[in-house]
Order: sequence, then C-alpha cells, then structure tokens
Amino acid sequence: MPSYHVWTVGCQMNVADSQRLDLSLERMGLAREEKIENADVVIVNTCVVRQAAEDTATGLLGRLGKQKFEAPDRVIAVMGCMVGPDHADLKRRFPQVDVWARPQEFQPIVETVGARTGLSTEGCLANLTPQKPNVATFVPIVHGCDKFCTFCIIPYRRGREMSRPVSELVDELTRLVDRGVKEVTLLGQNVDSYGHDLRPRVDLADLMEQVHEVSGLERIRFLTSHPNDMSRRIIRAIADLPKVCENVNLPFQAGDDRILAEMRRGYTRGQFLDRIDEIRATIPRVTLTTDLIVGFPGETEAEFQQSVRLLERVRFDKVHSAAYSERKGTFASRRIPDSVTRDEKKRRLHTVNDLQTRIQTEINADLVGQEFDILVDGETRGRLRGRTRGDKLVYVTGGGPALGDTVRTGITGASPWSLEGDLRATQTQKELVEIK
Ligand code: SF4
Repeated sequence: MPSYHVWTVGCQMNVADSQRLDLSLERMGLAREEKIENADVVIVNTCVVRQAAEDTATGLLGRLGKQKFEAPDRVIAVMGCMVGPDHADLKRRFPQVDVWARPQEFQPIVETVGARTGLSTEGCLANLTPQKPNVATFVPIVHGCDKFCTFCIIPYRRGREMSRPVSELVDELTRLVDRGVKEVTLLGQNVDSYGHDLRPRVDLADLMEQVHEVSGLERIRFLTSHPNDMSRRIIRAIADLPKVCENVNLPFQAGDDRILAEMRRGYTRGQFLDRIDEIRATIPRVTLTTDLIVGFPGETEAEFQQSVRLLERVRFDKVHSAAYSERKGTFASRRIPDSVTRDEKKRRLHTVNDLQTRIQTEINADLVGQEFDILVDGETRGRLRGRTRGDKLVYVTGGGPALGDTVRTGITGASPWSLEGDLRATQTQKELVEIK
C-alpha cells in the first residue's frame, strides 16, 4: 500500500485543509506515514504570511528535490498560499515538484496521485469531514479575503471571499460531533464577513444560532475578526448564545492613525477602541486577544509608541506580535519602501513582547483562586491539558476525567502563558449551558 505524508506550516486554515486532504488520500487507499523521508507521496502545505514560513517550506522543497534523485518515483506536491495564480517562477526553481495546487484545490493532487499509483480517485473528494477529529476542532466557514490590507498577501493567494452554505456547515458539524467533537472554532481570514456573498444573505450571528442547535456540541469559537465587520449583531450573539465562548480575537495591527491608513485597515485608533469598549460592555468576562505588526514601513518611534500605549490601555489577554515582513506582490512591497531597519524592528518587537509579558503576568495572577470550566483536549507530560471558555490554557492536576470531559477547576498557579489548576468536578452539558 503506498504511503503519504502531509507536511503543514501556517495558520489553522492550512491545518484544516491538510486534515481534509488526509481523508481523501486515505479514501484512495494510501496509508499515513509519520516520517516524511519514508513516504511515497509527500504534500507540502505552505504559508507565505511571513518570510520565515516561506523559507522553511522552500528549504524543505530543496531537500526533497535532492532526494528525488534517490527516490525518483516519489510524488511531491505543493499546495497552500505559496501557490499563486502564476507560479511559473516556482516551477522553474523546483522542477522536481510533480503537482502544484492552490489553497483548498485538492483535485490536481488526487488526480496526480491516482495516475502515479494506479489507485481510483472515485468519491475521494466528497464530504471531507475528518474521521478522527480532535475534541476541539477547526472548521473553515469562509475562504479568501476581500480586504486587501497593503501588507498582506492572503487575498492574492486565497482569492475573494467565498462562504460555505449554512446547511453544509451544520451537517458537517453534526457529523463531527458524532465523531467526538465538543468544541468548534469557525474559521475565516475575516470570519465576521461570513455570509455576505450567500443568497439569502446571512451573517455570522445567523450561523452561530444554527450551529448552537447542534446537539452535543458544547463550545463555539470563531477566528479571525476584523474591527469593521464585527457588527453589533455579532457581539450580541456572543453575549446571548450560551455555547459561544466569551473570547474575541480582534487584530488592531497598529496604534497610529497614519500607519493604519497606510495599511488600509479602514478604521482609526478611536474607532478600534470604541469597538473594544462595546465588546467589553456587552459581553461579561470577555477575554481579548489581538494581532500587531511593528516596524511597518515609515513607522516612526512616536507612531510605534501609539501601539505601545494601545496595548497598555486595552490590556489584551494575548498578543500575536510580528515584525513587518515585506511580501512580494503586495501593495506595500511595490509602493512603500521598507525603511525601518531589521535591528529597530527587533527592538520594537522586544519592547511589545516585554510589555505584554508583564500584562499577562498580572492578568493571569488575578485568576488564582478562581474556578473555571476546562474542556480537556489533551495531555502534556502526564498532566491533563485544556482551555477555559476565555481560551486560557490550563494544566490540571488530578486523575479521573478523560479527553472531551469538561471539568470544574480551581486555579492554583499562573504564568504569563498558562494556568495550573486542580480538579473540583466534572460538568454535564446541561449545567454547562446554564452557567453562562
Ligand atoms: S483582513 Fe487584511 S490582514 Fe486579514 S487576511 Fe484580509 S487582507 Fe490579510
């Protein structure tokens, strides 16, 4: 039986795509191989959001290309965001690659694998719901992005927004719950714009209401939001629907109005802060995370300090910070010279990371002594691991519960990145819905 290995880098959308491709290859009759060097078919699922992710993928392709001389029958496929509409340059650089596929475009891969292995591809692309999903799983609900922020390559690679129909998503979630899923994260590059392209038009709040009805599903999350599209209706739905977790990721990217305009984010610092205030006023106990870029071209020290002050003002529970990385093909790479030095970007990144570590230390220390419901989703070094509804990672001491159980946990210790807890009780689904 031929074997396959899917290597994945990047965001949860890529992870979800890889899981679906796994399923279609297994339906064809291929066996999963843990070691990439032993697989007959290797799929490299790529990301180009940061240079480092792209370098990792191209480094791997270089090594696979060299090995192709020793294993000429091995099929090498590349998919994901590295593969744009025009990838002639990549084909020249990596001639050993057998097939190139854009995000979610599985057909060219399965056809090539079918032709090379002699296996039938019939039915292998229908209903790609993972057979053994994680207890907490990710489901893409809208592909692509229409925003075209000047620094971002995603819209060029993943295309325009395309929402999946509500009924298709509810059916898939029902199947996932039958296979043990307790928590779903609804995914989109801009998840708040879900449904605007469907007829009849719906929004994320409508979808969350429908998903909420899926029996056996305990928690609903969503990722990633855009401040302009996170409507009052969506904020209200988070507050009103008991299964929707009170945790919002709202990227601000920069704290200064001139930089926000250069990024074409479409909002000002004041408008972003108003949205944060509205979320906090509407959703009790909400936790907030964000994304931030430092060292955008032309960002002065004073403009950078606006980002620092915004972090101090909002006090996010977590910040995904990154130094600006020029992405070829974006508006910024063509029109705005990358003027902030590498050392200066590094310094700014250290500044925000140090500040955020202090803020998270203080926020998490305040949680010691409180109790939270943890959905157990794994084990690390003999201890159960799970997350609160607010997405805090907790390591739980005490035996008894199993994967997929929700346990009431008393917090006994805290670090900036995680909490420690001990077991109080295991909750039933009815109790879980009532306590929100
Ligand atoms: S909203 Fe902006 S940053 Fe996010 S995926 Fe779309 S273009 Fe990229």
